[in-house]
Amino acid sequence: MKHKKYKGKSTEAIHAGETFSILPTAVQDHQAGKTGIPLLPPIYQNSTFGFQTAAECASAFIDEESGYVYTRWGNPTQKVLEEKLAALEAGESALATASGMGAISIALLTALADGGHVVAMETLYSATFNLLNEELPRMGVETTFVDATDPNKIESAIRPDTKVIYLESPTNPLLKLVDIAACAEIAKSHNITSIIDNTFATPCSQQPITLGIDVVLHSMTKYLSGNGAVIAGAIVGKKEFIVQAQKEALRNFGAVISPFNAWLTLLGVPTLPLRFGRHCENALRIAAFLETHPAVEWVRYPGLPSHPQHNLAKRQMNGFGGMITMELKEGHAAGEKLVNALQICTLAVSLGDVRTLVCHPASTTHSHIPIEVRQQTGITDGLVRFSIGLEDTEDIIADLEQALGTLLS
Ligand SMILES: *Cc1c(COP(=O)(O)O)cnc(C)c1O
Repeated sequence: MKHKKYKGKSTEAIHAGETFSILPTAVQDHQAGKTGIPLLPPIYQNSTFGFQTAAECASAFIDEESGYVYTRWGNPTQKVLEEKLAALEAGESALATASGMGAISIALLTALADGGHVVAMETLYSATFNLLNEELPRMGVETTFVDATDPNKIESAIRPDTKVIYLESPTNPLLKLVDIAACAEIAKSHNITSIIDNTFATPCSQQPITLGIDVVLHSMTKYLSGNGAVIAGAIVGKKEFIVQAQKEALRNFGAVISPFNAWLTLLGVPTLPLRFGRHCENALRIAAFLETHPAVEWVRYPGLPSHPQHNLAKRQMNGFGGMITMELKEGHAAGEKLVNALQICTLAVSLGDVRTLVCHPASTTHSHIPIEVRQQTGITDGLVRFSIGLEDTEDIIADLEQALGTLLS
């Protein structure tokens, strides 16, 4: 797969992958003089593709480059999105999937095709943790969870049968970072596949493949689509890995993205660099505001000098993202009161939306989990997480100010 090289991320996000050779019908119509070439790639909303001759059908089966057969095996709309993602993440190839968890499952099933052991960051997205901690052990795949903020802990957990090092940076909800280049180096020296979930940072902030990582994963549900309209995921890596992931795992396990969702995601990706810049700008100002507020115990944001890994953030990230976590002085009751008082910031899970989303895990998503268990993963009583949106900063700050004010009275 060849990419034109663009100087800037925005040009790349807009133009990469929109090569008309992968849009067969559009090109045929154009060549027949019927239409111009559609600038927005069309949705090929169909499950199967017809052939005029046995020979055409036979060749599409043997060599996929020469035609599409069935949407579980590939679809032109999906392909445009994949080319764009590969370019943005500086990877050879990409595979779009039905969800972020679809991408994570397919990538792990591919890297662990012959079984093996995983060394993973101890704080992971909750469904990923469940997959590694509960589902995969039933199939004989064990995971050792380590505090990967110290790369030595990864190295010490490696066994002769370790096949995967699995990372996230920044992590949820405490926004801890891992030194991506150092972890990739450890993986390389032991011949282990390194995988990172880059959902929080996006390729605008960091391109892990350029730091030596083998496989990058995304929940495109979040920043990449940015519109809150789809559940979608992606895997980016070496062509060989992506082909194996597609032909073995994706085809047979079936976590395929629908053409419509691929198209909806394609509407979002071109504005990613513009949106991400604004998310970062808003979040930095809001994090600084929160840090000075008397109702707030502490704030975690990689762009603040108070972040314990701020130097690593400056070295590794180009923009510190839209996620902020804080602890309220008055704990559980204060968190509940805050989310009830907020008027612009919306109480919702998920992230990367144009809207500012807030969540207080102790009274909502994690209210059924005993406090001792919650605290092990850093989810304390007064912990509040924000996904800062694209509203005017002044409006978000005013909303936070009035809602935090109710905690002081
Ligand atoms: C949301 C999310 C996922 C899961 O993605 P879905 O699209 O919901 O399946 C995985 N990793 C991270 C970091 C996420 O934020």
